[in-house]
Amino acid sequence: MKPDQFQAPDYYNLDELLTDEHKMVRDATREFVKREVSPIIEEAAQKAEFPKQLIKGLAEIGAFGPYIPEEYGGAGLDQISYGLIMQEIERGDSGIRSTASVQSSLVMYPIFKYGTEEQKKKYLPKLATGEMIGCFGLTEPDYGSNPGGMVSNFKDKGDHYLLNGAKMWISNAPFADIAIVWAKNEEGRIHGLIVERGMEGFSTPETHNKWSLRASATGELIFDNVKVPKENLMPNKSGLGAPLGCLDSARYGIAWGAIGAAMDCYDTALRYAKERIQFDKPIGSKQLQQKKLAEMITEITKAQLMAWRLGVLRNEGKATSAQISMAKRNNVEMAIKIAREARQILGGMGITGEYSIMRHMMNLESVITYEGTHDIHLLITGMDITGIPAF
Ligand SMILES: Cc1cc2nc3c(=O)[nH]c(=O)nc-3n(C[C@H](O)[C@H](O)[C@H](O)COP(=O)(O)OP(=O)(O)OC[C@H]3O[C@@H](n4cnc5c(N)ncnc54)[C@H](O)[C@@H]3O)c2cc1C
Repeated sequence: MKPDQFQAPDYYNLDELLTDEHKMVRDATREFVKREVSPIIEEAAQKAEFPKQLIKGLAEIGAFGPYIPEEYGGAGLDQISYGLIMQEIERGDSGIRSTASVQSSLVMYPIFKYGTEEQKKKYLPKLATGEMIGCFGLTEPDYGSNPGGMVSNFKDKGDHYLLNGAKMWISNAPFADIAIVWAKNEEGRIHGLIVERGMEGFSTPETHNKWSLRASATGELIFDNVKVPKENLMPNKSGLGAPLGCLDSARYGIAWGAIGAAMDCYDTALRYAKERIQFDKPIGSKQLQQKKLAEMITEITKAQLMAWRLGVLRNEGKATSAQISMAKRNNVEMAIKIAREARQILGGMGITGEYSIMRHMMNLESVITYEGTHDIHLLITGMDITGIPAF
């Protein structure tokens, strides 16, 4: 793979909207990605292996629980810093960002928001340092876009719960130490349980042969009469709103993360267009290529403004789920389109592992599908503006 020469575009001087802390956090993550992720990511993706050696460094830059208070081991940062961390990690690879997103928003967040004080003290500090890795089990083989129909369930057996069911497409599952599992009780109400690796009847087979997010491990969660201690139920929120609350946080991170992937594709294509000579001139001197590049930077700039504004609203506690859906949908589509156009600017070289673009493009096929598909986010906006659910 080519050396990482990334230069971040900032066409509208967005840096002026950031605090010194935001810039410090962002630059530290950018540096980490250049130093630790870029040199190894192509090989990890080709081999379909999650590079576990990155866990310690990710923890050190605050990528695990950026906005979780310091008393529980988090970095105590605001939502814009969280977004910028996701942007920079996804600039390196969406699979690595997925691991950080899951750990922060789908594992640490529910424990912090819905868990007991004992659960917070037991798990959060270890999750923040990466000593423990978590996964989030919501999707089931027959219930993807409508998770409310889930069949995974638990029964009250007096001194423990008995958990049965299966989850699929679970990021980090093959090596996670704990799983946040969403299942129904005997009344059909959804609750979150913390299931630990090693509990009898709990297994996590890996999903192989993916063409997307190859540097992220994906698997199933299988529960065959798993005895879960009663103290592992998170008591402070139940119903579908509980997992959806976590997804709001993760989707917000994706809205920023997708910008990172887009910036990397744009920056690579811009450099290539200025260097590649055809018909005695750089291809960047041709109107057709300039149109592609000009549209890319326009779309990146719009996405940056959207993410920044959403971050302000989240800092103020005012961002709605529908606003988050709009940003996730818009920014991921923006990134996938830019990846496709950038790939063309590189001609044949664009399909090789010498450059990051094809890997980003394939990764983004998962990003546009998980945490609510492109269609579902459109339906959320539709419902928000008409008041009529069309699911
Ligand atoms: C790599 C990867 C990692 C993942 N990680 C996790 C994870 O960590 N945890 C987790 O719980 N899940 C995870 N997922 C699952 C992901 O969230 C689901 O794949 C996603 O929600 C879609 O569900 P589905 O695949 O069952 O598709 P379906 O729900 O079967 O959808 C298929 C198609 O039908 C469309 N569709 C569905 N309903 C409607 C409707 N009402 N109107 C119009 N169109 C509709 C969809 O938009 C889609 O195009 C992951 C998925 C992938 C690919």
